[in-house]
Amino acid sequence: SDFELTLIAEDAQSGKQFLAEGIAEIERIERLISSWDPASETSQVNRMAGVAPVKVSDELFELVQRAKAISRLTDGAFDVTYASVDPIWTFRGETITPPDSSIIAASVAKIGFQKVLLNPSDKSIFLPEKGMKIGFGAIGKGYAADKVKSLLQAKGVNGGIVNASGDLSAWGVQPDGQPWQVGLVNPKNKNKVFAWFPINDRAVVTSGDYERYLLMGGKRYGHIINPKTGYPAQGVISCTVFAPKAELADALATALFVLGIENGLYFVNQLPEVDAILIDDEGKLHASKNIEVDETI
Ligand code: ADP
Ligand code: MG
Repeated sequence: SDFELTLIAEDAQSGKQFLAEGIAEIERIERLISSWDPASETSQVNRMAGVAPVKVSDELFELVQRAKAISRLTDGAFDVTYASVDPIWTFRGETITPPDSSIIAASVAKIGFQKVLLNPSDKSIFLPEKGMKIGFGAIGKGYAADKVKSLLQAKGVNGGIVNASGDLSAWGVQPDGQPWQVGLVNPKNKNKVFAWFPINDRAVVTSGDYERYLLMGGKRYGHIINPKTGYPAQGVISCTVFAPKAELADALATALFVLGIENGLYFVNQLPEVDAILIDDEGKLHASKNIEVDETI
C-alpha cells in the first residue's frame, strides 16, 4: 500500500528528517504485523495455530485485543480472524468460476474472533485450531496512520496528514491557518472528487471496491469478505468513515461493506463521534445522521 505524508516544518531540512522518521515508523509496523512477512509476529502466531500460544510484543498483543473488541462491536462483520478464507479468493479484476462451496464452508469454520485466546499475564496469543489466522488487512493501515501521527506530534510537528492508501489521519491546520480539506472521490471515476470536508484532528477512511475486485457470474465483487458466509460482500461500492482514530475508522469501513447500507447506517448512528457515507451499487449516496449529502454523485 502507498503511504503519503504531508507535514508542516520550519524548513526543508527538518521536514525531510520528520518524513524519514515517519517512513521508518511505517516500516517498523509493517515488519511487526504483516502477514506476508514470515518473520513478523503475526506470521509466528498463525504458524502456531492449533499448536501452542506465542508470546508477542505488548504492541501486537494490544492491537489484537482492540481488533477483537472491534470484531465484537461489529458482531463479526469485521473479524480479525477472517484470513483463513484468504487463499480462496484473489482480487485481480479477472473473471473467475465460483470456488467449490465445500472449500468455502471449511474455511469459514475456522473464522471466529471469539476463539482467539489472549493471555495478558504472559502476553501470548493462541489460535486454538489449525488453519486459523489473524490478519490486519482491514485495520493495519489505519493503525499505522495513527501511530505516525502521534509520533510526529510528539516530535513537535504541529500539522500534517498521513494518508495510508485512503486511510487518512490529520492534525493541526494548513500553514495559512485553514483547516485541512479531504476530498472524497467518485468510485466510478477516480479522478473526480464529489465532496470536500474540512478535518481537524480526525481520521477519514475510504474503502472501495474499485482497486481490488473480481468478476463472477457477470457481477463485480470487491475484496471485503463476509466472514459469516466466506463470500465477498455485495451492495456497497464505497464507504467512507469519519472517526477520532484511523484504526477504528478503517475497521468500521470494512464492517460497513459487510453490514450493507441499512444495517450499516443504523449501526453507525449508535456510535458516538463516528459518521459514514456509503455509496450503493447503483451510485446512490447514503449518509449517517450528522452528514448531509446529495443523493447522487
Ligand atoms: P481498503 O484496502 O479498501 O482500504 P479495507 O481496509 O476494508 O480496504 O481492507 C480490506 C482488506 O481487509 C482485505 O484485503 C482483507 O485483507 C481484509 N478483510 C476482508 N474482509 C474482512 C473482514 N470481513 N474482516 C476483517 N478483515 C477483512
Ligand atoms: Mg478497512
